[in-house]
Amino acid sequence: LVPRSSILTSGPTTVAPGVIQAVFTVFVMFVVWYLTSSISDAVRLRDFELDGANARLRQADEDKNQQMLRTTHDLKAPFSGIEGNIHVLRHLHWDSLPEEVQAIIEKIEMRSGTLRSRIGEILTLGRLRSGSTSEVSEMLIVLKTLLCDVIEELAGLATEQGVTVAVAGDDISARCDPGQLKILFMNLISNAISYSKPGGRVEVDVRDRDEGCLLVVTDHGIGISPEAVPPIFEDFYRSQEAAKFNPKSTGLGLAIVRQIGQNLNATIKVQSEVGKGTSFTVCLPTPTQAGAG
Ligand code: ADP
Repeated sequence: LVPRSSILTSGPTTVAPGVIQAVFTVFVMFVVWYLTSSISDAVRLRDFELDGANARLRQADEDKNQQMLRTTHDLKAPFSGIEGNIHVLRHLHWDSLPEEVQAIIEKIEMRSGTLRSRIGEILTLGRLRSGSTSEVSEMLIVLKTLLCDVIEELAGLATEQGVTVAVAGDDISARCDPGQLKILFMNLISNAISYSKPGGRVEVDVRDRDEGCLLVVTDHGIGISPEAVPPIFEDFYRSQEAAKFNPKSTGLGLAIVRQIGQNLNATIKVQSEVGKGTSFTVCLPTPTQAGAG
């Protein structure tokens, strides 16, 4: 930038245009540096404010969920009261009641049972989403034993529907939260029973595969139409045919299944054909896969 000087030449030194250019470049760089650092300071401040706003929104959302869960929980007591009174009527005064009154009471009992189970499912979903169940420690679970417990608990429903349930497959264990896994099995198997036709058969299969433990629940019931498959895991979704076939449905069972799938890092797939049946496949990762995320 500065012109070469020589001992052979003398005279007044002039500021070379290169020097002016250098000074100008330094000045421009200084201005750019100043502007960049003030913009990045402003962005950092904005980030900080946004982080604060996000934390407040998350807290407000959590408070709202907790409030909703408390209110929902408070609704349990009145329904238990209604069912308790119906129980008394059934045992002490049933024969003295006219048939029309009995029919009305039976309807009240049915609606109250449906609402109570919906309340239970809303509470389960709320707890699963708020992460309060994540405190439960993982355990080594023999899958077939847990499945047999679930099937035993669903025996009443299966008898009511005239459906048989069979378990087959490998004797394998998985390391995960038994409470959440049981709720997942309950929902898939009770759906398979509820959407089977009378005299139908539900098959539950457990397999050890490279990708993890595979659990497949298959029924030969009403099936799901292709356009109804994408929304089935959404909260409160019930297809029209399903609502007609199973008036007790709440539309929350598969939302619970999806949430548990996320909590346990499991993948869930569904295959179905209208009128032929449905198959849900759950893949539980083995501990090393789960650790790898
Ligand atoms: P619910 O069964 O109480 O309606 P779910 O969330 O468990 O709620 O299921 C959502 C919808 O998915 C059901 O309404 C039904 O349309 C469909 N579905 C789930 N499981 C089955 C099944 N095994 N066979 C046919 N349809 C099913």
